[in-house]
Amino acid sequence: MKAPPFDLVAPTSIEDAVLALAAGADRPGGVAVLAGGQSLLLDLHHRRVRPGLVVDLRRVPGLGAVDVHGSGVRIGALVRHRAFEDPALVPGAVGRVLPVMAEHVGHPPIRELGTFCGSLAWAHPTAEWALLAVTLGAQVTLRSAAGTRTVAAAEFSTGPHATVRGDAELLTAVDLPLPPPGAGAGFVEHRRTEASFAAAAALVVLEVGDVSVRACRIGLAGAADRPVRATRAEAVLTGAPVTAESFAAAARVAAHEDADPRAEPHGPVDHRRQVLSVLVRRALVAALDDTARAGGEEAA
Ligand SMILES: Cc1cc2nc3c(=O)[nH]c(=O)nc-3n(C[C@H](O)[C@H](O)[C@H](O)COP(=O)(O)OP(=O)(O)OC[C@H]3O[C@@H](n4cnc5c(N)ncnc54)[C@H](O)[C@@H]3O)c2cc1C
Repeated sequence: MKAPPFDLVAPTSIEDAVLALAAGADRPGGVAVLAGGQSLLLDLHHRRVRPGLVVDLRRVPGLGAVDVHGSGVRIGALVRHRAFEDPALVPGAVGRVLPVMAEHVGHPPIRELGTFCGSLAWAHPTAEWALLAVTLGAQVTLRSAAGTRTVAAAEFSTGPHATVRGDAELLTAVDLPLPPPGAGAGFVEHRRTEASFAAAAALVVLEVGDVSVRACRIGLAGAADRPVRATRAEAVLTGAPVTAESFAAAARVAAHEDADPRAEPHGPVDHRRQVLSVLVRRALVAALDDTARAGGEEAA
């Protein structure tokens, strides 16, 4: 199908972009942002959206940077998925897990054009970057003609393809806090075909002491209508010994108490919980292995 007719503007500053969004928000069908176009163009051609105005962001300068500072990373609105394939982009556990996650985002042409922030704005329930942002406790920056506000990533998506972003707001950046040196990260995903979205995924960030878990963050995709933290499993694991038994116990809690999956044609609820339990256990083991790499990097 062809896209419905729409007007297109290509501003060259953030100020002009937000003014265009404000003007477009009142049009029938509203306004859409064109970032990488990897979801918007399909939505247009399938006529799932019919915006009166499309604001092409690609000529706006200053949105394509990844800024690493002391305790975090700021990702601008035009940073492509492909940027995260570089293991040297970000230090520490997040830097080591980013390329593993990036490899699961679509396939190379999608990663060449699609953007990290566009993925958050499109809010697919199992998108890798939304899982990362929720697990790490990221902040999303939204700018409009009325000003700027920040929203916790955990509060940003309200369900499949739904967010708290108003039509006239531009998502300008996402700030990811970085875990302390010595932490490890592990990501494991289950998907049906090479290029399909995840059916489920788990991301773990782990800090271990001599014999016990000092701190952990466990994020789940495919456990609800948006990525969520497995806070009950985190509480079970924090302070527990670093053993296969405590990992298995935390994985069971994540799958049976934190997750609230819905049945799908390919996966009744019991099956989905079983998959989540396996993914969390594997992600915990991967994160523990990664703490050894963290130790090696610090010693070097
Ligand atoms: C075959 C295929 C497989 C894919 N597989 C995966 C996958 O496995 N995992 C995954 O996460 N994604 C996957 N994607 C989607 C891909 O990651 C998209 O790039 C992403 O969802 C949207 O990013 P974009 O930059 O292309 O945004 P666009 O397509 O340009 O925009 C998407 C939506 O977000 C809004 N938007 C975009 N940027 C902003 C902004 N800065 N401020 C406000 N609103 C904004 C637009 O208005 C639009 O509604 C796949 C896509 C395809 C076609």
